[in-house]
Amino acid sequence: MLFGRDKKNPIKIADKGVIEWKYTTCGYCSTGCSIEVGLNDKGEAVASRGVGGADVNRGKLCLKGIFEHELFRLPGRGKTPLMRDKHYDPFRKTGWDEALDKVASEIKRIQAQHGRDSFAIVSTGQIMTEEFYTLGKLARGVIGTNNYDGNTTLCMASAVSGYKRSFGSDGPPGCYDDFEHTECLLAIGSNLPEQHPIIFWRLRLALEKRKFPIIVIDPRVTMFAQMADIHLPITPGTDLVLLNSLAHVILEEGLEDRAYIEAHTSNYDEFSKLVKQYDPLTASRICGIDEDTIRNVARTYAKAGAAMTIWTMGINQSTHGSDGVVGINNLNLITGNIGKPGGTSLSITGQSNAMGTREWSSCSGLPGYRALESEQDRSDIAQFWGIDPEFFPKKRGLFQTDIFPAIEAGRIKGLWLIATNPMTSMTNTSRIRKILEKLDFLVVQDAYEDVETNEYSHVYLPAAVWAEKEGCFTNTERRVNLTRNVIKPNADSKSDLWIFSQMAKRFEQGQKMHFPETAEAVFEELRTLSKGRMLDYSGMSYDKIEQQRGIQWPCTDGNETGTPRLYSDGKFQHADGKAKLIPLPFVDNNERPDKEYPFWLNSGRVVEHFHTRTRTGKVGNINKFSPTPYMEMNPDAARELGIEHGNYARLTSRRGDAVVMVQLTQRVPPDMVFIPFHYHECVNRLALGLLDPHSRQPAFKQCAVHIAPATDQQSAAIRNKAARAY
Ligand code: SF4
Repeated sequence: MLFGRDKKNPIKIADKGVIEWKYTTCGYCSTGCSIEVGLNDKGEAVASRGVGGADVNRGKLCLKGIFEHELFRLPGRGKTPLMRDKHYDPFRKTGWDEALDKVASEIKRIQAQHGRDSFAIVSTGQIMTEEFYTLGKLARGVIGTNNYDGNTTLCMASAVSGYKRSFGSDGPPGCYDDFEHTECLLAIGSNLPEQHPIIFWRLRLALEKRKFPIIVIDPRVTMFAQMADIHLPITPGTDLVLLNSLAHVILEEGLEDRAYIEAHTSNYDEFSKLVKQYDPLTASRICGIDEDTIRNVARTYAKAGAAMTIWTMGINQSTHGSDGVVGINNLNLITGNIGKPGGTSLSITGQSNAMGTREWSSCSGLPGYRALESEQDRSDIAQFWGIDPEFFPKKRGLFQTDIFPAIEAGRIKGLWLIATNPMTSMTNTSRIRKILEKLDFLVVQDAYEDVETNEYSHVYLPAAVWAEKEGCFTNTERRVNLTRNVIKPNADSKSDLWIFSQMAKRFEQGQKMHFPETAEAVFEELRTLSKGRMLDYSGMSYDKIEQQRGIQWPCTDGNETGTPRLYSDGKFQHADGKAKLIPLPFVDNNERPDKEYPFWLNSGRVVEHFHTRTRTGKVGNINKFSPTPYMEMNPDAARELGIEHGNYARLTSRRGDAVVMVQLTQRVPPDMVFIPFHYHECVNRLALGLLDPHSRQPAFKQCAVHIAPATDQQSAAIRNKAARAY
């Protein structure tokens, strides 16, 4: 007789005709899941599966990963280079030689007329580490522009800046294994189940074995907030006040780790003087969290044997994002929660290789966490590349968010965009459109020729995507993992590595330098340059990385398995070897709701989409869950405005307007609405995006809007249907 589960029909997985599985790493988010792509007898990618022996995902994949093999042949893939004289002319097809010659000659022309920095380069967080390194070599060592940055300024710049200010260097100190050891988890501005489902699953595994408190700070009742023990629905943009107040309670009640503070931190006196001003009563009036709850959270965190904080864009995308990160680091330093199992400040990164660009792209400096400001670093890299150190600028140039205003002001005339789509990802879309139209020359290098930004280009270079090439990604916990080349690039598209090295050959200085042809040969340069540094790769090789399904740096020569945590010895990267406690006065400098624009507009991700939907918007089994721009709105607020569930509403801000479908839900309070940021011509038409002074990251998440029912529901529905068909 059959019982329970045995009585049910067994799950049958459709036979896709896979004859070979190839090892890769997921190309979407920074979790870093190991994936195998299944090929059929025609060499076509027909299936994806998680790798059982991989420590990160242990055989699991999220929705995006399960269908990742489909992205190789999505509509809109670029097949051949395209060119035109004016951005409003039709494109004509061309060959690689003509396209690359044109780009090189335009770079030279613009630089000769307007100076080296008049040509800017903005890249991504999604190409391979070896490609980032090669692009950095080209941008810094050959083209020589100092206006070179990555789109990671939109997502991770505040984390980088905060780590550098507190610890003396970038580099997330913790790892996923910390969930197994922590006694308290604080999550700020992170909807982990939707943004990073596999990291969330790792947390759930840890919780099944051993219960520990989960505290979620988020203005919205996210999926994560719903499973938290304590949810703090904070007033948008006031996290710094709450963090200062938690520190206030800990110091006031003597709950700090005095021995750790004395041995491993500096600047305690200034810090403690500042947090004295943030008593819970004062803080509660600003951040909206009652005094009692602030005290309870502070005590719970400080009394835990080990406590950790994770965060994502809710902290980073703010006018004081960098300060928010430092505030988290302050909290963990005064409680001795850095570098120990279960005690850490772990920023959860967004793009698959946002870490790789931070480490090796030279966007903010020189490769391997070297600084342009350091004479020694400039000299070491110049010697390694065989160029004159004087060719390098002595400090970094503009961030991405300052490059666009510099185009507007006429200081930058040419731009090369690599796997980034500012027409959707930057705030104030109509301003970005005018800025792109103003360029003398725009080259877009992307796997998809139908990205919105390509409407404004003069040359389009079709790039290979993900496992159409080979190379490494670094994930959120510093784990370097490998993507093997699974299938050939689509049509005549080429790997980004090939494009960069071919471009270098078109410059006199590039002809004198060595640009390796293969990703593995580039990796050897990284290993050499990393030796003895914080991010030491010298003990890694491609085969070893694949065997271990990823290795965490530092991995010194002879080290077999890498290093799970940084700063376990209490030694930091500041000159005195100590971490810095930094006082953080709160300045309320962002737009707030008022009579004219009475709602907070909050934005974020949904589980089924990735960034600007260039990929997930076209995968039917993913897009069907959220095919259309929509807004979460509180039913009470909607009733007052005469808006019903499923209606269309028009949002207006001081920048522009957008029409979206309304979903009524108690997940948002009456004075707030939430819109997923993935859709073109939606959130970023409205957002203000004031910049953080340290990181130059925009405050995507907080602005004020007015809401009214859309007057013509039928044409709004037609417009939304068009967006769905993307
Ligand atoms: Fe890919 Fe991230 Fe999903 Fe893992 S969690 S399968 S890395 S998108």
